[in-house]
Amino acid sequence: MRIGIFGGVFNPIHFGHLRAAEEVRTALDMDRVMFVTAARPPHKSLEIAAASDRLKMVQDAIRDNPNFISSSLELNRPAASFSIHTIEELRGNYPSAEFCFVMGIDAFLDFSTWLQPEKILSLSDIAIISRPPFGFDRIADSPFLTKITGGELDSLKDGKTRMIKKSSTAGRKIYLTNITPLGISSTLIRKLVKNGGSIKYLLPAAVESYILSNKLYGGSMGHTGG
Ligand code: ATP
Ligand code: MG
Repeated sequence: MRIGIFGGVFNPIHFGHLRAAEEVRTALDMDRVMFVTAARPPHKSLEIAAASDRLKMVQDAIRDNPNFISSSLELNRPAASFSIHTIEELRGNYPSAEFCFVMGIDAFLDFSTWLQPEKILSLSDIAIISRPPFGFDRIADSPFLTKITGGELDSLKDGKTRMIKKSSTAGRKIYLTNITPLGISSTLIRKLVKNGGSIKYLLPAAVESYILSNKLYGGSMGHTGG
């Protein structure tokens, strides 16, 4: 069983996340993608909806996809939550599974600041997915993977290659995965809600209704999208 671990604040979850998860699942032949909702990170405390709301929106968003599962394990911890502890806990829960961490290029750019990055690399493969406007050249000098050649970068850039397999410094695999570029972010959605704009077709209708009827992100309950 191959399980992709897709962590995020999901504030809120949107089609950029969902399509990314579906494409990386098929590209890497994963049996499941697990959406792991993060606790409120201390450096990003503004504008973050309650964990229970973010988790509910993830559950609503993935309900119709049998290959997607949601985990609240990071929300059940008393103190700050770290990916290394998540992977250790999941390995205990699914002893025969193989895990692959999934993250956008923007998230991987911060990887050196994570707790025990080398240990994460020793326990799990990593799939780094494209995310506009970030290019794979941004990670070409990363100390965590074997050198990406100019030719590899070019073939990723012009879309000829869907995926390139590198090795991490810990000897496991790092997949650079090109997915359909969708310039959607949670930041954009929060901004639109705040300004009374439409968020239709950026995220599942159930999530749109949840945001509007619970007045998340400073929106007033104008239209409920139904
Ligand atoms: P925010 O704007 O609040 O930072 P976000 O849209 O970046 O929200 P996160 O919850 O921060 O969403 O991201 C979770 C993971 O999903 C990260 O690894 C991020 O790179 C990835 N991701 C988010 N949106 C996209 C997208 N449109 N395409 C590809 N990957 C994405
Ligand atoms: Mg983000």
